[in-house]
Amino acid sequence: MKIEVLTLFPELVEQVARFGMPRVAVERGAMQLSTRQLRDYSGNRWRRVDERTFGGGPGMVIQAEPLTQAIEAARAAINDQQGPAKVVSLSPQGERFDQRWAERLSAEPGLILICGRYEGIDERVAPQIDLELSVGDFVLSGGELPAMLIVDSIARLLPGVLGHEGSAASDSFSNGLLDHPHYSRPEVWRGESVPEVLMSGDHAAIRRWRLKQGLERTLLRRPDLLNELKLDAEQLKLLREIVIEQLHEQDGAHR
Ligand code: SAM
Repeated sequence: MKIEVLTLFPELVEQVARFGMPRVAVERGAMQLSTRQLRDYSGNRWRRVDERTFGGGPGMVIQAEPLTQAIEAARAAINDQQGPAKVVSLSPQGERFDQRWAERLSAEPGLILICGRYEGIDERVAPQIDLELSVGDFVLSGGELPAMLIVDSIARLLPGVLGHEGSAASDSFSNGLLDHPHYSRPEVWRGESVPEVLMSGDHAAIRRWRLKQGLERTLLRRPDLLNELKLDAEQLKLLREIVIEQLHEQDGAHR
């Protein structure tokens, strides 16, 4: 997959490919990450790409022409190699980015990520944009951190990037649930033992314990996720057990 990031701060965005899974993705050829400096398309000797907003008020806006030229150049670079790229603008007003979006985007041949700054980008660029994505209900000063976050979450989903093939599949959200807890050596740490089942070697029991833990965490921390899921018979049975255990615990606490 080829990703082009259009930004005023390419050096910032490039950092994402220096570490962890995005670095592995680049080294293994699963992902190509390029940045495009918007100022290179300014058409003026001051390399200026922002202007005051019409109608008055504070703040500047990234102008339509340099941004459009950068999109066209990025499209040409990607389309030559990989097929049509999806143009994504980072915006607090966009659809909320989540694991499902990461999965969908990881299947695209190419992505163009537009990082806004100031008050954002000139609205007339909208017809060139396929999708607006937000990373949460808060306002950042630029789209670079959201773009880096999206690149990271996509990189670990690309084939051949994660060491253990099952790793991404057991992560939170990939099956609609939160991940189960994890333990490592030593077996007893400051008096705290690892749950016995994990030391039993009984793979069926471990799978069931992990599934139940994931369900319990989801119920307690993110019950909204359960509303969106169609649970199978085993998950429903475990969830019933969890609810009964929780009720017993509450009952015990009230006595
Ligand atoms: N005036 C805009 C508004 O209120 O909707 C906010 C502009 S913000 C200061 C500047 C840029 O940061 C945006 O154009 C966008 O690219 C990026 N940005 C800020 N918050 C974001 C978020 N939650 N998700 C994605 N991008 C964000």
